[in-house]
Parts: sequence; C-alpha cells; structure tokens
Amino acid sequence: MSYEFSNFGRQLAGGSGIEELMDDLGHALASGGPDICMLGGGQPAHIPEVNALWRRRMEEVLAEPGAMERMLANYDPPRGNPKFIEALAGLFRREFGWPLGPEHVAVTSGGQTAFFFLFNLLAGEMPDGRRKKILLPLVPEYIGYANQGSCGDLFRAVPPKIEKTGPHEFKYRVDFDALEVTGDIAAICVSRPTNPTGNVLTDGEIARLSDLAKRHGIPLIIDNAYGAPFPNIIFTEAAPVWDEHIILTLSLSKIGLPGTRTGIVVARPEIAAAMASMSAVVGLANPNIGQAIARPMIESGEILKISNETVKPFYVEKSRLARERVQECFGDDFEYYVHRSEGALFLWLWFPGLPITSQELYERLKKRGVLIISGHYFFFGHDDETWRHRHECLRMTFTMDESTVRRGIQAIGEEVRRAHREAAEPALT
Ligand code: PLP
Repeated sequence: MSYEFSNFGRQLAGGSGIEELMDDLGHALASGGPDICMLGGGQPAHIPEVNALWRRRMEEVLAEPGAMERMLANYDPPRGNPKFIEALAGLFRREFGWPLGPEHVAVTSGGQTAFFFLFNLLAGEMPDGRRKKILLPLVPEYIGYANQGSCGDLFRAVPPKIEKTGPHEFKYRVDFDALEVTGDIAAICVSRPTNPTGNVLTDGEIARLSDLAKRHGIPLIIDNAYGAPFPNIIFTEAAPVWDEHIILTLSLSKIGLPGTRTGIVVARPEIAAAMASMSAVVGLANPNIGQAIARPMIESGEILKISNETVKPFYVEKSRLARERVQECFGDDFEYYVHRSEGALFLWLWFPGLPITSQELYERLKKRGVLIISGHYFFFGHDDETWRHRHECLRMTFTMDESTVRRGIQAIGEEVRRAHREAAEPALT
C-alpha cells in the first residue's frame, strides 16, 4: 500500500523536467562511460586555472588556525555568513555604485533554492484568496523554474518575437506589444543571460521591463546566474542593473563551485529578510563552504579578475568552437538556426520544419549516447501546443571537451538529416 501525498507533495515529488535532467547529468558524470556524450546539463567546465584557485583557497583554509573548524563545524546565521555578506555588498558598491548594505543581501542554498523561495513568497495563493502568477516576458526560459510552485502552476509566459539575424542565426526579442501586466501578476522574471538560449536581453529591454514592473508596483527578478560581476559569462555589452524594485540573484555555481550550493539574493531589505526566514525554516542555515572559499576573493576583487580573464574567455572560445562545428556538421542540406550566442553555456538550435518533435529527436540521440535537452520543456507557462516552434528546438551545452562536443553535434546533424530523409521518402524507411 502506498501513502497518499499532499498537493504540495505531488507538486514537488511528482517528477519534473529538471529532475530528469539533473539525474541524467549526475549519473553521466558519476558513472557514464567514455561513450556518453553529455550535452544536456548546465554543468560548468572544470577550468584548470579556476580549480587551482579553489585548491589554493582550500589549502589556505586548512593552514589558518580555526578556519577549517569555522567552515565545517559551525552553523552560519540563516541569512548567510556576515563577513561574506558584507564582502558582497562592498563589491556591488565599489563595482556598480549600488547603495547596498548587508541588509540587502541574503545567501541561499544555491540559486535554485532562491527561486523556490522567491516565487512562493510572491506568487501562489494570497491571503485574500486570489492566485498570483509570475510573468515570464520571454519564453523559452529556464526549465528549473517550471515546477517550483508549491500550490500548482505559477507562470504566465509570453512567446518572443523571432528575428533572423544571419543566414543561420536568430535572436529572440521581448514582444512588448503582447506583454500585459494584469492584476494577478506578482512579479516579472527573466534570466540574463538566458538559460537555455544564451540570449542577453538588451539594456533597452531591461529598462522597459524595469519601468513596467515599477509602474505596477511589482518586482522585476533578474536571474544573474551567468551574469556580472561574476561569473560574467556574457559575450556582449550589457549593463548590470539593480534598483529598489529589482531582485537580483547570483550564484557561485557557474564560476566553478556548483558543489558548494551557494546562491545570493540582492534585494530590498524586506525581501532579503524573507529569504533568511525561509532558509531558517527549510534548512536552518546554508552551506558554509562556498562562502568560506570565495570571501577573500570577493573582498580583494580577485573574483572579478578570474571571471574576466579566465572564465569568460574560456566560454567565448567554447561557444565559437561549438558554432564552428555546427556549421561544419550541419552543412546546408536542412534548415537550421542557432540563437545568437551572447552568454551562458549553451547553444540553442532551431530546426524549422523538423519532421519529428524535438522530444523524439532527444530520444533518438539518447539511444546513440548523446544527451541534449528537448526544447519543449523551456516553453512552460504558455500552453499553445499549435505553435510548432516549441517542438523544433533543442539545447546543447558546450562546456565539455572539444571531441565530445564535436561528436554530439555530428550526431545531432545526422539525426536531423535522417528525420528529413524519412519524411521525404516514407516508403523507403
Ligand atoms: N538560474 C539559471 C538560469 C540557471 O541556469 C541555474 C542552473 O543551471 C540556476 C539558476 C541555479 O543554479 P544553482 O542552484 O546551481 O545556483
């Protein structure tokens, strides 16, 4: 006999795209053989210079009397380590001139947890019985948000304008004509750079979204997991912004510390305090290790140097190589577009007229040991199934070594070509 789960339990334990993805990723990394081509998850690369820094910091912690004991044997306050928080506020003041103190900052157990807290703090069932939603002004958007509502679906999403920017390149733009902030919208949320597409919303788009949020008295949440000042995996010019009505989230994951589970929320004090309260209830305190490793580098500004001189150039080159491989392997015998690669760790590929769904393409590739993510997962909050585009895209990660990425892209090209061939000559297949 199985136990009955609550609505909350069903919502969170009922399976999700993000669970499948992280499961595939974790198993491929832990026990996948050399034949697995893991282009699916958001695993940042192991950059040798960056890992050397973590090693150096660990050695410093071990050498400093009492430092290891503080890191491993203490609970921090639920808001995060006070020195880490002060270091962050100082960095934002120095770098961007934002008027921030420790009261504006809270640490969470990874950025993912920050979103669970923020979405459920602001949206869902309200005290007066209304249900509020989070507005995604542009989908595709980060799959990790999709199942986070503790009492059901939380999102309303607006499809983008698609602008072809080159023979095989396109870019999504916010469709402001279709964007409406109705009374049931609790907040607007975007990732910048965007997971899955590598899109970076322009300064103009962000200014309009910020203005819209401010006029409606709601927050604009900007997910800065790949953004400035760290890890700064942004390949275009984009000004970081913060304001009283902006909630900015950051993470130590994509600079290379995903295992430490360190997320950061920068927001007006009432929101930062709510994050601390929620951390206390859900987890007592947050993991200390990432904070202990990164704090001196944040105080000294070394984290900016690593981001700008090592991490960013590494991914600029990875992106360039992946796009070059796509061009080589896909040729001109089927239609495809790559989203303009402006940041993050992914290429977003669009195959207009793909005769099979992207989910079927995923399954065919998985049989060959190539793991990508079917694009349809990223269009949550907008349920127009007749919009073919949502079944014509896929996300592939370009952080793995070059031969893995090349093999994966080659296989994608072969499978898309095969699908077209089968559709053109059904009798022969
Ligand atoms: N936001 C975006 C856009 C992401 O891509 C990720 C992870 O891939 C996260 C948030 C959460 O990252 P973490 O919980 O590791 O900080």
